[in-house]
Amino acid sequence: MTTRISHWIDGRESAGTSGRTAPVFNPATGAQTGEVDLASASEVDAAVARAAEAARSWRQASLSRRSAVLFAFRELLHQRSDELAAIITAEHGKVLSDAAGEVARGLENVEFATGVPQLLKGGFSEQAAAGVDVYNIRQPLGVVAGITPFNFPAMVPLWMCANAIACGNAFILKPSEKDPSAALFLARLWTEAGLPDGVFSVLHGDKEAVDAILEHPGIAAVSFVGSTPIARYIYETGTAHGKRVQALGGAKNHALVLPDADVDMAADAVVSAAYGAAGERCMALSVAVAVGDVADPLVDAIAVRLPKLTIGNGAEQGTDMGPLITREHRDKVAGYIGAGQEAGATVVVDGREAAVPEEGFFLGTTLLDHVTPEMTVYTDEIFGPVLGVVRVNTYEEGVALINANQYANGTAIFTRDGGAARQFQFDVEVGMVGINVPIPVPVAYYSFGGWKDSLFGDTHMYGPEGINFYTRGKVVTSRWPDPATSSVDLGFPRTR
Ligand code: NAD
Repeated sequence: MTTRISHWIDGRESAGTSGRTAPVFNPATGAQTGEVDLASASEVDAAVARAAEAARSWRQASLSRRSAVLFAFRELLHQRSDELAAIITAEHGKVLSDAAGEVARGLENVEFATGVPQLLKGGFSEQAAAGVDVYNIRQPLGVVAGITPFNFPAMVPLWMCANAIACGNAFILKPSEKDPSAALFLARLWTEAGLPDGVFSVLHGDKEAVDAILEHPGIAAVSFVGSTPIARYIYETGTAHGKRVQALGGAKNHALVLPDADVDMAADAVVSAAYGAAGERCMALSVAVAVGDVADPLVDAIAVRLPKLTIGNGAEQGTDMGPLITREHRDKVAGYIGAGQEAGATVVVDGREAAVPEEGFFLGTTLLDHVTPEMTVYTDEIFGPVLGVVRVNTYEEGVALINANQYANGTAIFTRDGGAARQFQFDVEVGMVGINVPIPVPVAYYSFGGWKDSLFGDTHMYGPEGINFYTRGKVVTSRWPDPATSSVDLGFPRTR
């Protein structure tokens, strides 16, 4: 028995009419559990028309009403976070505690957005010229869309929709077709929270739906999170169609481990960040850069930790790491291990040989030592439980390696030297930096974004930059003169 997973339009489920669907699997069992509708261009068109109508009345809602809906949504999400975590685990495969963590971090974005009356306050300058006042306001864009990846099926949509809706827009979510059910769960909660029908919609789909969104004249802005080639495509196509676009891409995040680091602490952090969610995180640490003589003890400390991790169905208590998202992706990741070996890396722990459940898309943890920058295991985002160790002689060599990488999402330094950490924060050309913090995902009141090929566009996601992204600024200059003082003056207005 598979579940039909439909769109969410106008406050209710809406069965697809395109005749195209895609299978949804439980990656831990390998069994197909669902069939998701894939929207056609005409279905996108109908959803945009409904969203445009909803946006016109939602922008009239008072700030306190919007805030009240967000508070209600926050409460529902909080109360039902275990249910949502279970949905995520069943379609993504990550372990329940990790799925609960994803929901908790998404919830923080909703909490941030509840402060929208404060966030949308503008400035006011009395007497900018004699009898003239100037103030600025921020207004919603209208209909905005979010296109999201499989690896955070609840958190990434929440990065976008909470702020977009709080700012008075209608939001259309195009979630990953690999794990689409979390999006529908969020849609039901929005409706239950009192959000007017049509303000939040879900359109499932693949390239056809995405292209229809990118080309649609009724959509003002697109937020995207996913792999770099698609992020580049989204940015180029969306902006060519006159849209505001923020497109977050892939990553290759380095951990720089200095010789003075506490080796056990660094190993704990690197193992957690490399293998959590089976490495399917855009902030996963996938390269450890070992400086000087820390390399041997670090590799040993990581290697002894790996056999202790329990790999299995993430829905079962006591599991540390679940499967990969699809069979094809598992095989691709396994292929990288072979490629690394052939290129001369030392396979310290081989995930292909691990005892993992036969059903499902599992792969064990892999540790590769003596990785060098020209190997594909170094150049490519593998997005699996594979950690490569690059050995360098100095701090400078380590920073130069990180700065030469095409990706620049996150990085972390492990050291007990505050001066070295501060120098790293100054030198490194990466958007998000951890100092003894392995996964430095910014809290909801900062903004999230990488540099270089990890972000196309100039606006980071959520937090203050999210509020700016989903609004347009307007500046009003006003005066209320005595008509008796009125005269014609063809000169350019002066303020002094
Ligand atoms: P993906 O790029 O394959 O898919 C992302 C979205 O784009 C999905 O909704 C998908 O349906 C759509 N899509 C896929 N192919 C398309 C095409 N040819 N044309 C139009 N749309 C298309 O990414 P994914 O595999 O779902 O997610 C993993 C990737 O996302 C990794 O590269 C990871 O680093 C990245 N990611 C980045 C961040 C970040 O914040 N920078 C966060 C999470 C994930």
